[in-house]
Amino acid sequence: MTAQDLAEAAAQPETTNLGGAYPRLSQVQLDTLEPYGERRPIHAGEVLYTEGDPSESFYVILAGRVAMVEGYGTDAQQVVRVHGPGRFLGELSLLTGQTEFFTAVALEDGEVLAVPVEGLRTVVSRDPELGDVILRACLVRRTLAIGLGAGFRIIGSRYSQETRRLRDFAMRNRLPHRFIDLESDPTAENLLRQFSIGPDETPVVVWRDRVLRNPSNAELAQLVGLVTVSGSGSTCDLIVVGAGPAGLATSVYGASEGLTTVAVDAVAIGGQAATTSRIENYLGFPAGISGGELADRAAIQARKFGARTSVPATAQQLTRDDGHYRIRFADGTDVLARTVVLATGARYRKLPVPRLEEFEETSVYYAATPMEAQICVNDPVVVVGGGNSAGQATIFLADHVRKIRLVVREHRLDEYMSRYLADRIERDPRIEVLLHTEVRELLGDKLLEAVVVEDNESGERRTLEARELFVFIGADPCTDWLAGTVALDSGGYVLTGSAAARAANGQFDELGRPPMMLETTQPGVFAVGDVRSGSIKRVASAVGEGSMAVRLVHEHLAAYG
Ligand SMILES: Cc1cc2nc3c(=O)[nH]c(=O)nc-3n(C[C@H](O)[C@H](O)[C@H](O)COP(=O)(O)OP(=O)(O)OC[C@H]3O[C@@H](n4cnc5c(N)ncnc54)[C@H](O)[C@@H]3O)c2cc1C
Repeated sequence: MTAQDLAEAAAQPETTNLGGAYPRLSQVQLDTLEPYGERRPIHAGEVLYTEGDPSESFYVILAGRVAMVEGYGTDAQQVVRVHGPGRFLGELSLLTGQTEFFTAVALEDGEVLAVPVEGLRTVVSRDPELGDVILRACLVRRTLAIGLGAGFRIIGSRYSQETRRLRDFAMRNRLPHRFIDLESDPTAENLLRQFSIGPDETPVVVWRDRVLRNPSNAELAQLVGLVTVSGSGSTCDLIVVGAGPAGLATSVYGASEGLTTVAVDAVAIGGQAATTSRIENYLGFPAGISGGELADRAAIQARKFGARTSVPATAQQLTRDDGHYRIRFADGTDVLARTVVLATGARYRKLPVPRLEEFEETSVYYAATPMEAQICVNDPVVVVGGGNSAGQATIFLADHVRKIRLVVREHRLDEYMSRYLADRIERDPRIEVLLHTEVRELLGDKLLEAVVVEDNESGERRTLEARELFVFIGADPCTDWLAGTVALDSGGYVLTGSAAARAANGQFDELGRPPMMLETTQPGVFAVGDVRSGSIKRVASAVGEGSMAVRLVHEHLAAYG
């Protein structure tokens, strides 16, 4: 930062406490933190940490002011926040182990208390009140950072499937980033020239001086400090495959009850639940909670108790190996565990219409979170589906889009949808509901322009203007990789308990013990949540099953020594 930059930043007022993101710690709270860190002087212009660095220390400003800067040292350098005494720096990365997304620069001479993140974790678990202040602020700061488009840049064409993959990965993992569209953003060309990248080499991820050409999800994960498992050679007590609500609950209860626990997920922590903007029927959240926040909170909780989480890690094979289970991942690594909990949930079903794949790259979505809402501001949108997911998405999107239509195959809106959602939709003048209607065609050139729908009573067809199509028509279990290992029902869901006992046909384990509730046809392998045959497809039941499974894991370990 030049002296002039510094002077200009120093002239800015302190940022207001936006949505509780920037609280000032009290003297009592500072006294609680003090033994865990050390005071140190800061000097005007000093960089406390840089975006892209691992998040290693928690800084509280004791005297002076500090600026949070985006694009530090580049032409695009921008001061986004200014903080004074009593405020702390950093955001969710402090608790998740990801990298910093801003650079912290002292604006004047002063003093900070620097607490190493390990110390922060200790103090947060010992002082729940202080822990809550920090956690809340960190969660809001992450949301603000996402909204600002801070962090790395994804440069690519909106028509490219690889660009979409990278954007999806960043969105699902709630990683602050900015998408720079080669097709419409005038800054794209300059940026590419600056890094000597040809348009044919896109998509690229750029962050400070690092350029990743069409990186894999694992490479992007590494850039931001998400951890992936590698064959450590050691055996854990419990591996949880899938980190949606069921897997996260298993991890929290498993780790908190002393089991060495590893949780892995192919895409992102949070599962399907994290793709919804608001869950209103989860116990204890009368005003509802966003799926993303629920996932972030649970992931921090699991980590607090010592569970290791790893993303992205796609389980491809489950085998028995000398009394243990070996899970092999898509990248060739593996993990050995004494017990396994399968929590791989379900994947959204696709519409049976021509050209779906073509438009999936640009205009078809299977989730409705603030990220998707940003994309379709002021657009005409069609939502398809008659269940609660479609209902929630419609209500949420109605606040953001120009025109919204809900296309439902059934004859009544509340045939599968909860009455409270159906009521809300019927009362909302912004939403047009088309009952007994199905999508037949997708129209447009590269980008979706309209969908053709058919009244399944009269056969009459209508063309609806649509720039984005949101599809919520049910899901199929993620069990392809398990075929032949554990017994599945005719729909591919994992059989457990008495159904597994029937499928095993009296062929029980070496102790002659039939499967326990939630146990599959393999002893010590359990299934919980949406992937389990007969489960209730709800966040609360997934969480409940996750906690129950841990009790049964203990029983299994006790029986097998
Ligand atoms: C849009 C939407 C809105 C919803 N709203 C509500 C609501 O308001 N209230 C409610 O109670 N329920 C709601 N639900 C349902 C709820 O989200 C699910 O019941 C719940 O998420 C199931 O949790 P789960 O952990 O069993 O599975 P999932 O949430 O499906 O998580 C499974 C995880 O496993 C991972 N995985 C899959 N295969 C592999 C593999 N081979 N290796 C590694 N990882 C793998 C996936 O990436 C995923 O993250 C909603 C669902 C959707 C889609």
